[in-house]
Amino acid sequence: MSATELTHLSAAELSAKLTAGEVSAAEVTEAHLKRIADVEPHVHAFLYVNEQAAAVAADIDARRAAGEELGPLAGVPLAIKDVLVTTDMPSTSGSKILEGWMSPYDATVVSRSRAAGLVPLGKTNMDEFAMGSSTEHSAYGPTHNPWALDRIPGGSGGGSAAAVAAFEAPFALGSDTGGSIRQPAHVTGTVGVKPTYGAVSRYGAIALASSLDQVGPCSRSVLDAGLLQDVIGGHDHHDSTSLKDAWPSMAAAAREGATGEVLKGLRVGVVKQLQGDGIQAGVAQRFSESLALLQAQGAEIVEIDAPHFEYAVAAYYLILPAEASSNLAKFDSVRFGLRVTPEGGGTVEQVMAATREAGFGPEVKRRIILGTYALSAGYYDAYYGSAQKVRTLIQRDFASAFAQVDVIASPSAPTTAFKLGEKVDDPMAMYLNDITTIPANLAGIPGISVPNGLAPEDGLPVGIQFMAPACEDARLYRVGAALEALVEAEWGGPLWAKSPLLTAAGLSDTSLTAGRA
Ligand code: GLN
Repeated sequence: MSATELTHLSAAELSAKLTAGEVSAAEVTEAHLKRIADVEPHVHAFLYVNEQAAAVAADIDARRAAGEELGPLAGVPLAIKDVLVTTDMPSTSGSKILEGWMSPYDATVVSRSRAAGLVPLGKTNMDEFAMGSSTEHSAYGPTHNPWALDRIPGGSGGGSAAAVAAFEAPFALGSDTGGSIRQPAHVTGTVGVKPTYGAVSRYGAIALASSLDQVGPCSRSVLDAGLLQDVIGGHDHHDSTSLKDAWPSMAAAAREGATGEVLKGLRVGVVKQLQGDGIQAGVAQRFSESLALLQAQGAEIVEIDAPHFEYAVAAYYLILPAEASSNLAKFDSVRFGLRVTPEGGGTVEQVMAATREAGFGPEVKRRIILGTYALSAGYYDAYYGSAQKVRTLIQRDFASAFAQVDVIASPSAPTTAFKLGEKVDDPMAMYLNDITTIPANLAGIPGISVPNGLAPEDGLPVGIQFMAPACEDARLYRVGAALEALVEAEWGGPLWAKSPLLTAAGLSDTSLTAGRA
């Protein structure tokens, strides 16, 4: 099998080959590092490529050869969003204020990945401190969508999604506060999961908005996302919001779901407020087609009214900046990263101000100002207080919906990938991308985005989102895998095989489908 073919295999397929001894971790890692070297000048999914990756892979091979009992994923490569701290690679969260900063400890999801034998390939690009929907707010330049290099890869986790879509890694870690795993999945034709709040540890995830942040997987298949969630999920005493529940295997749920059995009698809710206005025609069309596919397999479609969803974006863009302004106060020039001293010296306050002025980008400053204002005496009740009340009403809308249905479906985002530069100067237009993903974060429930074909008007990927009640993550993997199988049957194979990947950049790749059995 050629190096190129190896990069087209899923994590599940790589795991089977590695455990059967058909391929070594060193070969798999080398193939992905070569792919990274070839496509990075065009895609820029990575902020840092792990210089130790080959050594880590060689160590896995040596341990396997010595008869050590390794996990099934040992030797499979992994990309890591730069919001997650790592001891052996810099962690910047996409910001200049953390340039070159090295963490003294690993995020729990990183240490669990290492313990499972996954090989960290590097740290992926993101909007600064995970604020954005296009990765254009990264202090290190944007990532390009592998389906069309002049378009955004989504955000804030555009680097992780693009790395997976460009075959630089079979799967990646992301974080989702308002859609940062699911919306990039939608625009890059990949799978993205935001687990239940508390299902995956956030220890070592640089905090954006602590009541919303959740770490999760992205991949090219629902099964691979499940394999990764099984590695990173479960209780962690380092994170006080981590749930103590015992979780079923998400990979097993995905395998079970692929048979389609789960669809018989499944009640699928379609929220009136997540339809219509602002949804691109082709995105809406693919969504209705998939509802018809689900119905043909025995699912029942139920119209749901969620009257408070229309205030979700407004409430989120008060709660998030409020929490972010408080979380980012720790970047004070004393404890982490950058320190800028005004000419001729200055007081502590002047050094802090100069550092934050130089270290934070415009979107981060905008949100700190908004958040500080929303929390200030005299305005607290009117803004932050009201937003929290709306949040409760949205949670009640979900509760009454889930009394009638098993899952809720919606388009994962309103449009296909827009052009780089198109919305970067228009915060409102940027914020409206999150309209379909934000409700799940406000309610703490899980959501998955599954590739749902290409939009007829521009040939770009679209996703379908499913949401389930809190702690029903396995249900999402079942339903997601069932839909994935239906969409693949409809499109004659996995969507990623249709990627015109990088031909425009002169990196034509004719063997894209070769690795898939
Ligand atoms: N687009 C959202 C925002 O800008 C998503 C953030 C996230 O999930 N990290 O806030």
